Amino acid sequence: MKLYPLFADLSRRAVLVVGGGAVAERKVAALLEAGAQVTVNAPELTATLRRWVAERRIAHADEAFRESWLDRVWLVVAATDDAETNRLVASLAGLRRIFVNVVDDAALSSFHVPAVIDRAPLTIAISSGGEAPMLARLLRERLEALLDHSLGALAALAARLRGRIRAQLPAPAARRRFYERLFAGEVAELLRQNQPQAAQAAAERALAQEPGERRGSVVLVGAGPGDPGLLTLRALRALNEADVILHDRLVSEAVLALARRDAERIEVGKQAGNHHTTQERIHALLLEHARAGKRVVRLKGGDPFVFGRGGEELEYLRAHGIPYEVVPGITAALACAAYAGVPLTHRDHAQSVRLVTAHCRDSLDTLDWPALAQERQTLAVYMGVGELDGLRARLLAHGRAPSTPFALVENGSRAGQRVVTGTLAELPERAAAHMVRSPALLILGEVAALAETLAWFGQPPLGAAAPAHELSPPRRGRKPVSSPDVLAALHRA
Ligand code: SAH
Repeated sequence: MKLYPLFADLSRRAVLVVGGGAVAERKVAALLEAGAQVTVNAPELTATLRRWVAERRIAHADEAFRESWLDRVWLVVAATDDAETNRLVASLAGLRRIFVNVVDDAALSSFHVPAVIDRAPLTIAISSGGEAPMLARLLRERLEALLDHSLGALAALAARLRGRIRAQLPAPAARRRFYERLFAGEVAELLRQNQPQAAQAAAERALAQEPGERRGSVVLVGAGPGDPGLLTLRALRALNEADVILHDRLVSEAVLALARRDAERIEVGKQAGNHHTTQERIHALLLEHARAGKRVVRLKGGDPFVFGRGGEELEYLRAHGIPYEVVPGITAALACAAYAGVPLTHRDHAQSVRLVTAHCRDSLDTLDWPALAQERQTLAVYMGVGELDGLRARLLAHGRAPSTPFALVENGSRAGQRVVTGTLAELPERAAAHMVRSPALLILGEVAALAETLAWFGQPPLGAAAPAHELSPPRRGRKPVSSPDVLAALHRA
């Protein structure tokens, strides 16, 4: 069940609570806090409920439940310990299209009461749709600890200044930036120290100094290989502050999902041999949005400076006077090695690593093959799936042993990760047999053999010992491989 979240204004609105026990009391307390006019229907009440009746904070109906009461209330809560009564109340409320909450019965409820973190006027509500209330509660505890109590005061301060901020900063982007600084900086700090007057003064000072118009800028951000857990904190912040995100096709959906919801997203997908958007067009887009005063995030798979043309983009921005920052990302070589259990260097096997691209025949011809063919070093080859034949021929011709192990990592760090292992002698054939597709990274060198023993993520490597048609079930992998993935792998095999 997927619920539609809703915050209801119940102030001075009539609500009926059926039941007078401890559970009913908790519900009444929350309703009173929201300013509802509560009537409790029960023969007997808890001591606290009786006190509230005596103080005229709630009304008490001690006779048997009457259907006609439902005609004048906005909401009903059924909190008796009698399932039959609860069911009756729920069905009668349903007939009148009044929302009803039946305590501990998600199926009978037409509204659920979430776990709440109260930083009034800020409210955070968590629901598991009745499926995992303990998880919702646990999350609530974590957030409670995480969110300072001064947040409420911060929200109230923002509310007081809102009209003036809007008047002084009519452009939404400028306003948002001002709020971001307000919420992160000195003002928030002062409120945490319980100095509301100093905080108010600091906020007013900041507003007085706010220039309004702002220069646009570009942040070149490495999105890592796909697993959003591999983003840096800085990358996350940039994604949350972006007005526009220009991203490559390689950037995973899971990473994009972390970006600010209303940031404009432009895919400038590029794929080997299939350039959707030219580099010139990307440059033009960067310039256009930055000149419009926006904060542009240029989001690239892996690291922006490793085979990502990040350097060219910065040169262009610099030539046009656009300010920029760079946030590094975890490059495919590091991520694929980690997620395949292949240490890129190892005291016994490899003292150096080379990051190489084998993009096309031309790039193969320009590489320093005698150096690349040396032993006890690891090659991490990017964009190489189309050139494995040429790669093998040249490495063998320059003396690399045919028995040199490789690990070819497809979709590294993602749910569909596959690792194909073998030796240099059989590299293109093994890749073809498993229909390895881009994005895939080739790790070649003595260390690649360790994938057989050190693998931990997803499915075990497709080694020569385990023929493709005998896919074993996932091992200790962190993410269990879902059945569609297995089917897809079987299909590919
Ligand atoms: N800037 C990127 C590289 C871009 S070149 C980085 O630092 O990772 C694109 C190549 O990177 C792909 O052809 C592939 O070889 C490699 N690659 C990127 N993401 C990958 C992934 N999740 N799994 C395997 N290879 C990947």
